[in-house]
Amino acid sequence: MSLFVQKYGGTSVGTVERIEAVADKITKFKAEGHDMVIAVSAMSGETNRLLGLASSISDNPTPRELDVLVSTGEQVTIALLCMALHKRGVEARSYTGQQVKILTDSAHTKARIQDIDVSNMRADLSAGRVVVVAGFQGVDEDGNITTLGRGGSDTTGVALAAALKADECQIYTDVDGVYTTDPRVVSGARRLEKITFEEMLEMASQGSKVLQIRSVEFAGKYNVPLRVLSSFKDGPGTLISLEEDDASMEQVVVSGIAFNRDEAKVTVIGVPDTPGAAARILAPIGEANIEVDVIVQNISADNTTDLTFTVHRNDVEKAKAILKVVCDELGAKDIKSDAKIAKVSIVGVGMRSHAGVASTMFSALANENINIQMITTSEIKIAVIIEERYLELAVRSLHSAFGLDAQPQEES
Ligand code: ADP
Ligand code: ASP
Ligand code: MG
Repeated sequence: MSLFVQKYGGTSVGTVERIEAVADKITKFKAEGHDMVIAVSAMSGETNRLLGLASSISDNPTPRELDVLVSTGEQVTIALLCMALHKRGVEARSYTGQQVKILTDSAHTKARIQDIDVSNMRADLSAGRVVVVAGFQGVDEDGNITTLGRGGSDTTGVALAAALKADECQIYTDVDGVYTTDPRVVSGARRLEKITFEEMLEMASQGSKVLQIRSVEFAGKYNVPLRVLSSFKDGPGTLISLEEDDASMEQVVVSGIAFNRDEAKVTVIGVPDTPGAAARILAPIGEANIEVDVIVQNISADNTTDLTFTVHRNDVEKAKAILKVVCDELGAKDIKSDAKIAKVSIVGVGMRSHAGVASTMFSALANENINIQMITTSEIKIAVIIEERYLELAVRSLHSAFGLDAQPQEES
């Protein structure tokens, strides 16, 4: 008998029929004798619908009220799922984040979990009940409802698994595992049997939204066995594993390709080439809580530099307003921005022991006439900024350049 924490995402509970199907699945596990704690998302589209309602009333709703609003989505699904379980004769009890108590900090809309009270859940499990917890939400120490950021139900699932020392945290979604890249973009993408935490973290950070970044951080930190599976069809899914010593992993240089369209680049032109200029430009950006990702500096002949960096698209106007003031003080010439960019990253622990990965990447892009605007690397990743319109072409060509395409099925 094992203790499983299972998380079901929005599509998996997107209709009443889907909720019934999830209840069937849980009933089966329960009948096999397992203890079950379930975290659920809101029905698909619901969180966006709620955010839409908020923006139709206000351009600037307070984060506290946004959290009160969007947390309602998950409250609907916990109750419906419990009703479906009761109908099947399975005892189950629903809990909001506050009822559990999933204690978070007070950073509304992006709160972090600090502690989870497991006493109610343990009592229910001992009494043979299935525990159904609302994903994505918690409560701060003053009793305010908080939420964990988009995709946050993944983190609820992993945090519950860590707190309860579950045998496995299973993330049920609409794909049957983690793929070499988003299967919606490359039809030949392959499911991975295993991926390391480190690679999964890099994939998630570089834009693969199959798991929220924090859920992977959490799983790595607390050593939670984590698996991504489909709620629509049976299969082993993908295990996110700690070991890197697996022979199959060593042979692979690049495990996956991630991408995102969330960033925009900002260039400050004609910055005097003096010590401290970059710091003076970037310090107020950081102070305004704007995250800077890729940074590139070019030196020109006339003793000035151009400093280009990327920020989230939602932060471009704010960044430009800040830079206007700094640039006047510094005597820089101009500020430009471009939101029509995309970032494509290749990820793999195998890169540590292989040379020539960057040149393979750059040649594959050159063969498609795709210009690289910026480059950034880490030990297990190379990311490039390109024009947004070439994104899908770039991902497809890199996918085949690194031998990731699925082999055609052999004729039988
Ligand atoms: P859920 O609602 O279950 O949380 P998400 O939409 O958040 O589901 O995540 C699943 C989606 O992630 C898939 O439908 C897929 O399009 C996307 N995705 C992006 N990159 C990958 C990848 N490397 N492997 C699998 N899915 C990926
Ligand atoms: N419902 C939330 C969202 O749409 C949380 C989640 O689904 O993980 O982002
Ligand atoms: Mg998700």
